[in-house]
Amino acid sequence: MLQIKVFVFNPVRENTYLLYDETKEAVIIDCGADSHDEKKQLSDFIREKGLALTHVLNTHLHFDHILGNGFLYETYGLKPEYNRADEAMPGLKEGVVKFGRTIFKYEPVFAERYIDDKETVAFGASRLEALLTPGHSPGSLSFYSEKDACVFTGDALFRSSIGRTDLWEGNHETLVQSIKTKLFNLPDNTIVYPGHAEPSTIGAEKQYNHYV
Ligand SMILES: [Zn+2]
Repeated sequence: MLQIKVFVFNPVRENTYLLYDETKEAVIIDCGADSHDEKKQLSDFIREKGLALTHVLNTHLHFDHILGNGFLYETYGLKPEYNRADEAMPGLKEGVVKFGRTIFKYEPVFAERYIDDKETVAFGASRLEALLTPGHSPGSLSFYSEKDACVFTGDALFRSSIGRTDLWEGNHETLVQSIKTKLFNLPDNTIVYPGHAEPSTIGAEKQYNHYV
């Protein structure tokens, strides 16, 4: 049985998900930990629960989802895994992002292993299937657990909303297609854990999401 711990990190209020099961093996999806305090909160939780982190996953490479990758690499020796298409994103190597009036700095860490559509990420007694759901960014992935009936959608699908498509290589038509053909194919009771704000279900989004 998958346990899901949510941290809301950095000024953009990004959802960082720590997933673990009875074996105590864990993966992290989109580590947005920015401040010293946020990093400590995360590593304290991992230590107190006695978890062994096995994968660092990214749904996509927008800065608010990757701010903590450098910390995870330094602390646990794990490099992030993500879809290769996002790696061409401008500015990624500089590690400096201006967002409104705030400047974010991070240690860029790049994948040694990329994740393709339909690939499985296994840890402990759990597995996640990667679904390529481009549109918000070209390499956007969602991570689906059939057994635990949940999907981590990054910034593709939100509760009653969808991701913005005015950023680098964003495409509204592509995003709507991704949601319709990949995410809305999942069972209605699947819980949606988005990159920002509150969870939902596939059934509720099919019924109430006006953007799709
Ligand atoms: Zn994003």
